[in-house]
Amino acid sequence: MAYAITQTCCNDATCVSVCPVNCIHPTPEEPDFGTTEMLYVDPQTCIDCGACADACPVDAIFPVDRLMGRDTVFAELNQQYYADRPTDNEWSAPRFPRSLPRTPEGPARVAVVGTGPAACYAAESLLRIGASVTMIDRQPVPGGLVRFGVAPDHPSTKKIGDSFASLFQHPRLQMHLNVEVGTHVSHEELAAHHHAVVYGVGAAADNPLGVPGEDLAGSISATAFVAWYNAYPDAHPTVSNTPIDLSAERAVIVGNGNVALDVARILASDPEDLARTDIADHALEALRASNIREVVLIARRGPEQAAFTRPELLALKHLPGVRLVLDSTTVTADDVAAAAPGSKTALFSDVDAEEVDWQSPPPAGKRIVFRFLSSPLELTGDGRVEGIALSRNILEERDGQVAVTATGDRDELPTGLVLRSTGYRGRPLPGLPFDSTTATVPHEAGRVLDSPGGARLDGTYVVGWIKRGPSGGIGANRTCAEETVDSIIDDAAAGALPSPRGSARAFARLVRQRQPQVITRQQALAIDQAERELGAKVGRPRVKLASTEELLAAVKKPLRR
Ligand code: NAP
Repeated sequence: MAYAITQTCCNDATCVSVCPVNCIHPTPEEPDFGTTEMLYVDPQTCIDCGACADACPVDAIFPVDRLMGRDTVFAELNQQYYADRPTDNEWSAPRFPRSLPRTPEGPARVAVVGTGPAACYAAESLLRIGASVTMIDRQPVPGGLVRFGVAPDHPSTKKIGDSFASLFQHPRLQMHLNVEVGTHVSHEELAAHHHAVVYGVGAAADNPLGVPGEDLAGSISATAFVAWYNAYPDAHPTVSNTPIDLSAERAVIVGNGNVALDVARILASDPEDLARTDIADHALEALRASNIREVVLIARRGPEQAAFTRPELLALKHLPGVRLVLDSTTVTADDVAAAAPGSKTALFSDVDAEEVDWQSPPPAGKRIVFRFLSSPLELTGDGRVEGIALSRNILEERDGQVAVTATGDRDELPTGLVLRSTGYRGRPLPGLPFDSTTATVPHEAGRVLDSPGGARLDGTYVVGWIKRGPSGGIGANRTCAEETVDSIIDDAAAGALPSPRGSARAFARLVRQRQPQVITRQQALAIDQAERELGAKVGRPRVKLASTEELLAAVKKPLRR
């Protein structure tokens, strides 16, 4: 009997490092690692020791004979991965722990900007090699996308936050929350008090659609919608000062990445199921009053090129009370039947394919409709969204890429809500170079460059989405952070880390002067406890405090609700 990795795999490869027989692949050293949707246990080699399950930070690994319900399919998915790959259990060259050379001022002090997954993996790695770490975040609570991005109905994925929370208690770590670089302290001031500054600030903006009508009321970015249901303080209780209007029967999501699937699930789920999660109270209230019965996912390419990952689509099939439908206008049941087993298209073989009559109201019950090979042409409406016009597309191979060409056919879908889920986009950081083509900070193995391919900015580094662009789940940030930390070690060994002029204490004083409402890690712990206590009273993991005022109040006095 073997173990199998299931839907919530975070890809951070903690399991790979504890497996005594090297039966979990792809490993970080293998080429597939950068693009894999999840990791897989080779059932032929697994010796059933359970070390991977014990080490998994998100409880995603189980013995095959204990998989139940929607997870049973993962036994086959794990096995399938090895079907057309020769089993290769050769160990890669061993990687020994490195240590950080002492600087003339003692152990290196590193500032890490951001407290999301990439920043946390970097901080963890830096603490392991002996550095002191100062974490800074503009939000009053740590967590970044673990708190504000991961969907509330994915509690296992959120467990990675527990391992980061123990990191926050490390004696060599200081934390300054509610402090914004560029507003309260500058990059130069950070650099003047630390040997190195690492930016792990993610990609907070969204990609525009670039079609007429996208600024109409009722057209919002998925980024803003996710922030709203995850109680991001700037999104309380409205998005861009506009309440989310869920009065329409049909919502349309443009894009079909995992964020689009998250948003579709939240819109279609039974609010009473969401009521057991840490979803923002204001979102729960709005979803309870929602009229939305149909969520349409629009993809410009075909099912084979879909941006969602297999585990997320498989999970969607088990959403209680929600029917999945494939709009057969552009991709037919025959297309699905002809698809290779194991392909993304074949995932739709048990999904009802039907030609949807968009001019009629959605039928009774809730459903999520997949509409492929369609691009938005414009959002229509008088003052607010009333519909979306779509082109039909065909696929063509261009320069090795599958590109779309519009056929000239046009379809109109009436809808009152359009969510643009076309990916995140990095924002320029004050005092740092920015490549507006990739919306990332130019770098070489994490070392910031003054321009793409240009000169190094000594002592300045990047990790995560601001380094490599907005792709990959939480675990992808672990190897990304290790690469950056390796560069810091090499630079320290080469004597290339600039010496700070000010001490850690002087930096803490400066921060307090500039932002009297700075939140320390002890105060962040008080917020965490207050939220968990509120949650315990009503059978939820936590009740998130949704405004900066409430969060600051929780630091000062116990909360009563
Ligand atoms: P994404 O995976 O990059 O998906 C973006 C989607 O937008 C694609 O379907 C893309 O289509 C489409 N798109 C982009 N520009 C468009 C345009 N102008 N018109 C129409 N469609 C357009 O981005 P994401 O969903 O925001 O996710 C970001 C990352 O976070 C991903 O790596 C994702 O896997 C990860 N994530 C993971 C989870 C999870 O594991 N549960 C949850 C959330 C996010 P094309 O493919 O044709 O370009």
